[in-house]
Amino acid sequence: MIYQQRGIMIRQTNYSETSRIITILNEDGMSVPLMARGFNKPKSPFIVLRQGFREVLFTYNRFKGIGTLNEVDVVQQFKHVNNDFEVYSCAVYMMEMITKAIEDAPEDVTAEYYRLAVKGLELFEAGNSKYGVLSLIAIKMLKYYGAELNVDECAVCGNRNYRQFSHYSFKYHGVLCNNCLTDETTARSNLISNRVLYLAAYMKHVKIDDIESVKMSDENGRMLLKFIELIYDEYTGVFFKARKMVHME
Ligand SMILES: [Zn+2]
Repeated sequence: MIYQQRGIMIRQTNYSETSRIITILNEDGMSVPLMARGFNKPKSPFIVLRQGFREVLFTYNRFKGIGTLNEVDVVQQFKHVNNDFEVYSCAVYMMEMITKAIEDAPEDVTAEYYRLAVKGLELFEAGNSKYGVLSLIAIKMLKYYGAELNVDECAVCGNRNYRQFSHYSFKYHGVLCNNCLTDETTARSNLISNRVLYLAAYMKHVKIDDIESVKMSDENGRMLLKFIELIYDEYTGVFFKARKMVHME
């Protein structure tokens, strides 16, 4: 069967001197392995895939297992992402968050994986806060790892005035407000800036298609990312190799 689908290449491995097996995240949110014959030849039509992220229209044959790649047409280049090492590292991290969820549960395919990947790359490309964009996608991916971010009301008293939120409790599994801070309630809690909690709540609720920009200082972006990583560490147990790369700078 012949397919023509949008996708993003997420992996490549040498198969022989001239050929590679590539894996694409397709528009349905599935990961599809494809044999790309002649990939390593100097005049290969697949040369555009060699480095960096691109949104590509892939034409391939596939019945079961590994398909055969016939043609590639670039839909979107992500030049800024591919040329700025720090932004690229964040994009690698984002993609790992998405592909790991697919690996963990290959039968639970959702097109949202693809929408998140493309949206994330577009936001990175447009020069938005890289830590902000990464945090946004991390928050949207949390549910696929079975975790939840409870930042809408105080876990003790139900207070919804976010201006009074100051801690995240791993004992109560939610935010705490200033009225509820005692030795008992703050055990196993982290002091989180009010601004960060607000941003996290906003990102949790906003529809991904409604987001046009993600602006914040690098400092706030980093704090937000660290907070979301705490949530991942506590509730998912998933390990992302690219995390180190992003926190190196
Ligand atoms: Zn409270």
